Amino acid sequence: MHETGLSEAIVAAAVRRAAGRRVTGLRVHVGGHPVDPEVVAQGIQLAAAGTVAADATVDLVLEPMTVTCHECGRSGPVDDHLAMVACPGCGGVNIEVTGSDDVVLESITVNSGVREPA
Ligand SMILES: [Zn+2]
Repeated sequence: MHETGLSEAIVAAAVRRAAGRRVTGLRVHVGGHPVDPEVVAQGIQLAAAGTVAADATVDLVLEPMTVTCHECGRSGPVDDHLAMVACPGCGGVNIEVTGSDDVVLESITVNSGVREPA
């Protein structure tokens, strides 16, 4: 499962950013639609076991990609792969997909309660 490597990368980034301080919160930006948010959060908590982020709460910021159709004007979140190649409303292919499917560490909260950008 590629989620494991991803979770480890998120935790590794947080640990590096914390520089020895205890991490109490992780804010993770999840773009796109394919991932199950629960799986992502659990994977990160699992990867954090035994690190300074072991007790951190995982805060996911979900941002689906958006498809805009230049033919019928329809605009909405991408909910399946077909929506990324043709408009779900009119079938037009003159569409624009915005957003990304990145999973990135946005900020961490350290023991002082201070949130810091990652
Ligand atoms: Zn359309």
